[in-house]
Amino acid sequence: MATMATMSIQTASLSIVHYPDPVLRQIAEPVADPSAAQVRDVAQRMIELMNEANGAGLAAPQVGLSWRLFVTRADIESQTLPAQVFINPVFSNVSREMHRHEEGCLSLPDIHVEVQRPMSLSITAFNLEGESFSVNGTDLAARVWQHEMDHLDGILILDRMSAMDRLANRRMIKDLETAYQPRRR
Ligand code: ZN
Repeated sequence: MATMATMSIQTASLSIVHYPDPVLRQIAEPVADPSAAQVRDVAQRMIELMNEANGAGLAAPQVGLSWRLFVTRADIESQTLPAQVFINPVFSNVSREMHRHEEGCLSLPDIHVEVQRPMSLSITAFNLEGESFSVNGTDLAARVWQHEMDHLDGILILDRMSAMDRLANRRMIKDLETAYQPRRR
């Protein structure tokens, strides 16, 4: 695979990719230089796409880039702008307490499943200035971070849903598989 330095990305042409695009199943690569201009351009385009789609978060693999980067609404609860960018994120202080809640995914339109996840955790990541920062999250914030982190590891809510949800969403999943057309690279 081309490295970031050699890869030329037309950020304006980035769009949200849907399951079963294989990029959604790859383990994403760390971003070598979080403060690079191209990383900023990509993050800005991702924020645009997230807002257009009214999503709470968006991970780089969802725009076809296998990078360890995701964006979320800065204030997830009130869904206000601006967004927050997490580059090369890692979790710590993951709570033992779990919480079950419905999730959707911009790469899996019309599919909503219940997912059980730890209730709270801390995240450490780099921002677009290349500085490390840490924040604690509970409830929805922790859930969105975990959902987006899953994307960086090639995991989808399809892998975390119950047998009952699998059955309930069977037709929608099949429709996505039927509609899938490989992207031109
Ligand atoms: Zn998703």
